Amino acid sequence: MDVRENLENVRAAIAAAAVEADRKPDSVRLVAVSKTKSAEEIRPVIEAGQRLFGENRVQEAQSKWPGLKAETPGIELHLIGPLQSNKTAEAVALFDVIQTVDREKIAREIAREMEKQGKTPRLYVQVNTGSEPQKAGIEPDQADGFLALCRGELGLSIAGLMCIPPVDENPGPHFALLAKIARANGIETLSMGMSDDFSTAIGFGATEVRVGSAIFGARPPL
Ligand SMILES: *Cc1c(COP(=O)(O)O)cnc(C)c1O
Repeated sequence: MDVRENLENVRAAIAAAAVEADRKPDSVRLVAVSKTKSAEEIRPVIEAGQRLFGENRVQEAQSKWPGLKAETPGIELHLIGPLQSNKTAEAVALFDVIQTVDREKIAREIAREMEKQGKTPRLYVQVNTGSEPQKAGIEPDQADGFLALCRGELGLSIAGLMCIPPVDENPGPHFALLAKIARANGIETLSMGMSDDFSTAIGFGATEVRVGSAIFGARPPL
């Protein structure tokens, strides 16, 4: 498994999907999802020029990223997994982007920690486009209100939206719904699309795709 070659293939596929959608290839940013991978496995991907990475657990990210960030300037680390309130301080301290703001309590704690630490991670709101009970994210019909609360009373600047469509459904309508909510709220960053569906997501306007297994190889089952 050559991660360098995988990375090149993913980059080429992103560029092709962008051109297909009449978009500029550099309008789509690649977030390499390194969850479950060790620092040793991640390092070759950094050496191949990749700078944006996603992790879905705060504690796991803390065990490898402070060191990797110290080695290479310009790393941008994204939290793409659900945030528990007892991990908010650590998340604000470590991550450059928190993609999973999805409820008032967490939004308030992030606002408080940002103030306290003097840090300003970029924030995205996660939308549960499939209204799946087990999945994180604000319900689509509550997204406008939640965005207004974040931007108004809480004074948070929300730069993007993210979604994870249900595994067993055609993702297109979910990507379209996320794009519609973003348009209605003047939001430009759309984090959508993973290894199996990033080309589709780019067709629906994704500006960031989160790709793990297509770069790093399959993960052991969780
Ligand atoms: C694991 C994960 C990904 C990457 O999934 P792949 O199918 O391996 O590309 C993307 N987004 C989130 C939120 C994830 O947890």
